[in-house]
Amino acid sequence: MLEEYNKKRNFVRTPEPEPSGNAIRSRDSKSRFVVQKHDATRLHYDFRLEDKKAGVLKSWAVPKGISLDPKVKRLAVLTEDHPLDYLLFEGVIPQGSYGAGTVIVWDTGTYTSEEEISDQFKKGKITFTLFGLKLKGKFTLVRTHLDREKEEGKQWLLIKLADGFESNEELT
Ligand code: MN
Repeated sequence: MLEEYNKKRNFVRTPEPEPSGNAIRSRDSKSRFVVQKHDATRLHYDFRLEDKKAGVLKSWAVPKGISLDPKVKRLAVLTEDHPLDYLLFEGVIPQGSYGAGTVIVWDTGTYTSEEEISDQFKKGKITFTLFGLKLKGKFTLVRTHLDREKEEGKQWLLIKLADGFESNEELT
C-alpha cells in the first residue's frame, strides 16, 4: 500500500519519514487525522485519515482548503497512502524533490466513524466526525459520480454536514 509513497520519494534527499512499520496504530474507537498545509508549486491542504485496518493514512489534496459551510463542496483529490509516521511531519522538502515546499501541521486530532474507513472507502462515501482544534463535527467525503465506478477514482468532494459545528467563517 505504500509502494507509491516510496516510489515517489528519495529518502536521502527528502526529510519526509521513511515508513518504519512500527508506528503505533490507534487502538480504541478514536483514530487520528491530520491536515497538513503544503506550500508546494500550488498551495494545498493535505487531508489524511488514519486507516486502522491497513495501518496507513488515506490522503486527499484539497486545493482550496476545508470549508465549514455545508453548502460548499471542496474538491479533494485522492493521493497516495502515507505511512502513519507522517502524521505530525513538518519540514521543508527540497527543490527537485517530489512535493518540494514547506509542510506544516495545520490541524490534527482524532475522529470517530460508525464504520471502518477502509470499508467506507470501497463504497466511495466516507462519513466521520472530527475532533480537531480547528475542525470539529461531521464531514463526508464522496467520490464524484464520474469516478464512482472506479475504486481508484481520484476526484472526491469534501463536505461539512450540518450538525451545529457548521460556520461560514473562512479558515486559513
Ligand atoms: Mn501535498
